[in-house]
Amino acid sequence: MPTQAPRAIVVGGSMGGLFAALSLLRAGWDVHVYERVSVELSGRGAGIVTHPELVSALALVGLHPGEDLGVFMDERRTLDRSGNLIGRYHCPQTATSWNRLFQMLRDAFPAGRYHLGKELVGCEIRTDSALARFSDGSTVEAELIVGADGIRSTVRQQFLPDVKSVYAGYVAWRGLVDEGALTPAAHRDLFPYFAFCLPPGEQMLGYPVAGPNDDLRPGHRRYNFVWYRPADEETELKRLLTDESGHTHTGSIPPPLISRNSVEEMRSHSDEVLAPQFRDLVRVTEQPFLQPIYDLESPRMAFSRVALVGDAAFVARPHVGGGVAKAFGDARALTAALEAEQDVSSALERFEAERVAMGRRIVDQARRLGSYMRTRFDTAEERALAERHQTPAAVMSETALLNFLRD
Ligand SMILES: Cc1cc2nc3c(=O)[nH]c(=O)nc-3n(C[C@H](O)[C@H](O)[C@H](O)COP(=O)(O)OP(=O)(O)OC[C@H]3O[C@@H](n4cnc5c(N)ncnc54)[C@H](O)[C@@H]3O)c2cc1C
Repeated sequence: MPTQAPRAIVVGGSMGGLFAALSLLRAGWDVHVYERVSVELSGRGAGIVTHPELVSALALVGLHPGEDLGVFMDERRTLDRSGNLIGRYHCPQTATSWNRLFQMLRDAFPAGRYHLGKELVGCEIRTDSALARFSDGSTVEAELIVGADGIRSTVRQQFLPDVKSVYAGYVAWRGLVDEGALTPAAHRDLFPYFAFCLPPGEQMLGYPVAGPNDDLRPGHRRYNFVWYRPADEETELKRLLTDESGHTHTGSIPPPLISRNSVEEMRSHSDEVLAPQFRDLVRVTEQPFLQPIYDLESPRMAFSRVALVGDAAFVARPHVGGGVAKAFGDARALTAALEAEQDVSSALERFEAERVAMGRRIVDQARRLGSYMRTRFDTAEERALAERHQTPAAVMSETALLNFLRD
């Protein structure tokens, strides 16, 4: 008689959750994914810069995207305030989109095992199992629960109630522009490149991504920008998170609710500090997104039969561009530990020892890269570090690269 496959519950059906589920399924687990949102997830076209780590993780779950993963870039460039080229850096890299990666994972995972509209409200660890409780009153029992439920993780809050995300002191304005809507100068000087502009204390960057429905045909792609700007938490951030009706949102604000004043002010600031090519980009962006930047660090990722992966455990500022690769790495390490150990809790201890250290390294590196967006410095050393990270050479050779993990 074959023994029954061990059961796993994955909470959260985004990048980290789906990858963990695929990885466990291939290792022989009986896996189900429970996602709170009741409609198919979508990344609203957000760009994701890829790394060799991300591509090799995909291969481990049988996914080999090849050349159609995204838009290939060969070079990074920095423009000054007048639009002149002041730095070049050879750096072959592919930018894909959130939707492209997500759809690949979603299609590879059996549809009947993916449950939308299921919000976890709590878990309970029992002697030989763990129980997940959902907001609709249902419960599911399994040998393992994986919390892949993002920065505001319900799973983490249950086991680590004191761990909170910490606002980094700045926001990212983000936008996507159709290739055809770019001005000739922006298309020539920005579109083929991972491009930067570095006003004092701010950073603008952009890179090409696929167009709607993952269209990679020239003329049908889009350019994605991320503009980091300081915003004091008590005054400026509050104002940015306040919509037209006067309601102040916590943590983030849905793009259509961002006030017209905030968008107008952002656009007119672009006239003062950005290279004209980037200014054009900001001007033609119909619906910008606003993203306050946070750090999150968890001292633990394992609780007997419950593990945390991805943004549920550690959130690094986007400068490293490694959130997806980190989530995949967590899931790989979890599966490997479960294959190596006899019992679930020993496996989770092994997983935790490896991945807490990794999470800290990535968060630290991202904090260093973001240090020049700070407005106050406690020591001369902090100021010097921030200044170093504002030079085109440092920014281009460290942003969205995971080289520091290979040293
Ligand atoms: C501006 C910006 C740029 C970025 N650029 C890059 C990049 O270039 N490259 C890169 O690798 N990463 C990038 N990232 C980071 C990356 O997007 C994240 O690290 C990654 O998506 C995390 O995936 P996750 O599955 O852990 O969490 P999430 O994507 O947050 O997913 C969590 C899921 O859990 C669900 N959920 C939450 N609570 C519950 C509950 N109680 N019950 C059930 N389900 C629940 C949510 O609905 C959600 O679907 C960027 C981030 C930002 C902000």
